[in-house]
Amino acid sequence: MATLAVWSIVVAFVVLGFKAAAWWITGSVALYSDALESTVNVIAAFAAYWAIQVSHKPADDDHPFGHHKAEYFSAVLEGVLIVVAALLILTEVWRSWQNAAPLEQPWKGLAVNGVATVINAVWAGILIRAGRSDKSPALVADGQHIMTDVVTSVGVFVGLVGAVLTGWRILDPALAVIVALNILWQGWHVIGSSLNGLMDRAVDIQENIRIRDIISANSKGAIEVHDLKTRIAGRATFIEFHLIVDGDMPVRESHLICDRIEDALKAEIPSVRVVIHVEPDDEAKLPRGTTAVPFA
Ligand code: ZN
Ligand code: ZN
Repeated sequence: MATLAVWSIVVAFVVLGFKAAAWWITGSVALYSDALESTVNVIAAFAAYWAIQVSHKPADDDHPFGHHKAEYFSAVLEGVLIVVAALLILTEVWRSWQNAAPLEQPWKGLAVNGVATVINAVWAGILIRAGRSDKSPALVADGQHIMTDVVTSVGVFVGLVGAVLTGWRILDPALAVIVALNILWQGWHVIGSSLNGLMDRAVDIQENIRIRDIISANSKGAIEVHDLKTRIAGRATFIEFHLIVDGDMPVRESHLICDRIEDALKAEIPSVRVVIHVEPDDEAKLPRGTTAVPFA
């Protein structure tokens, strides 16, 4: 995990080097803007590395619920950087429109740029897959950003090949504009999914049903469960609910039921935090004796 983030920084620097070289060789403004976007990638890789370090810190006195949400900061920053990159590309398009000049050694420059694009595409795929299996929004956002960078590079590549072959300079800026709009769309998506986490969004409906099933299967001796609330913070899932038991049940016995439910949830859901509020039967919301442990 943390190793992946370190490699992200290394890969980002290598790709930036290739793209800067491609720009240097050709003098193409499109390749220049492509290299600028890679600079954003390097900053984003540092941010993702920092966020993953912080989010893995155990809970402490200042942050008793843990540090999971640090990953959303990096994901939001990443979304903002994507938007900045799109604006940089549009600026470059305008500049190249104003003063068009023929490219120097276009094929050599495009070959160097192509190597950078292949490295980026492979790396983005690795990051997205690792981030999804590890529930890490920072890694997924990082991978998605690099994938938009690949789309940019392919657009620029195709545009430049077309421009060189046909001599139509307009192909270059026209394709760059399409690519910039696509990147803006991606940035909006990355920011939106991180805002959900910052807003304490509940688990999705399938996960909610699974949680209810686990609680129902392990709450023998209790009368009812109600007010189930869930929220997701990075890799962690927080669950809380009210557990109705017979008002005369000893505390020791109701605590045993709570421990059994907590253990079952911890066995099924990674990084889960459970808080159960025990109540006597006069707090029940459903008529008594309907099913084993119905949810209100
Ligand atoms: Zn209640
Ligand atoms: Zn306890």
